[in-house]
Amino acid sequence: MTACICIVGNKNSGKTTLIERLLPELTARGRKVATIKHDAHDFEIDLAGKDTWRHRQAGSRTTIIASSSKVAMVRLIDREEPLEELLRLVDRSYDLVLIEGLRRSPLPKVLVYRPELGLAPPNVLGEIWAVVTSGRNLAIDAPHFLPDQVAELADLLEQRLLGGSARAPAWNLPALLAEAGRYHGHLCPGQVLGVRMAVAGCDHLGVADPRSSKRLIVFVETDRCGTDAIQTVTGCTLGKRTLKFVDYGKLAATFVDTETGRAVRVSALESSREAAQHFAPEESDRHQAQLRAYKALPDDELFSVEMVRVELSQDDLPGAPRSRTVCAICREGVSDGREETVGGHLLCRACAGRPYYKSGTGARAREAKHGR
Ligand SMILES: [Zn+2]
Ligand SMILES: [Zn+2]
Repeated sequence: MTACICIVGNKNSGKTTLIERLLPELTARGRKVATIKHDAHDFEIDLAGKDTWRHRQAGSRTTIIASSSKVAMVRLIDREEPLEELLRLVDRSYDLVLIEGLRRSPLPKVLVYRPELGLAPPNVLGEIWAVVTSGRNLAIDAPHFLPDQVAELADLLEQRLLGGSARAPAWNLPALLAEAGRYHGHLCPGQVLGVRMAVAGCDHLGVADPRSSKRLIVFVETDRCGTDAIQTVTGCTLGKRTLKFVDYGKLAATFVDTETGRAVRVSALESSREAAQHFAPEESDRHQAQLRAYKALPDDELFSVEMVRVELSQDDLPGAPRSRTVCAICREGVSDGREETVGGHLLCRACAGRPYYKSGTGARAREAKHGR
């Protein structure tokens, strides 16, 4: 049977629009795609007064209309055709069938959800492989895509439907990219590089499940796009103290396995920008060229990877604060050994002469704070 996926969702949720977007994407990848529209009620394709309509009116139960470029058939049936019968109409030369509707079939689904409709997502049989929505994540354990993330959705469909052993890939890159794009707000070249950096780092450490194993600490060297992607892949965050920001202005990160003490630094090669241009010279949009290249180029054209040593202080590890003191000048609490001793007094870094802010009101602001 040809690979099939059902695009399901409430009425007006954007199913047809999604199919309209997926078709050119998949066709451009050399896929031959058929579509089936399932209508839960009834449809009218024979226009009143047309010849085929007149044939049917006169009692023909099967009417075929044919020309040199198209053929169509209208057959009256007494009960709904089983899915297999419909699929038999699509010949074997097709790679994929996109079915609009049939949410109660056992086939895998892409659920399109439009929060503006104010409706709950419909009940669906079969596995939901992906959710397409502009809104918040649904309580469905499947990658979520924005409506314009058609390329990423096509990646997932190709991988799962047409990629052979893609059933349980070590890293589901399309899903990770979709997630990074959602978290970051758009899928930019930085997301692709960040996701791939994180995957490369985890692979070098032999950590296959960074989010559930919670054994990684990551040092990121930039506060730009890629850092968000590293965060989504690894699950490491500033608030959990598993993400450390060192302000080097470099797209690089060091992944530390706290269980083994091993650490690997992955940094984007300067030459990867040029490699991206060479990868897709016909692409006039530089951004698109980079997106495509960074998804496809091998790791060694994108990154340099080096095993390194990272000394982690007890004061930098997750868990309850190991120390807490109060600054002798501003009286604000300081945790984790970040205080400094100046002239015999324990001071916060700001009062010790390294503030990153200027206080306009000085002492009065402090008093106001203490008064609360
Ligand atoms: Zn970005
Ligand atoms: Zn202070």
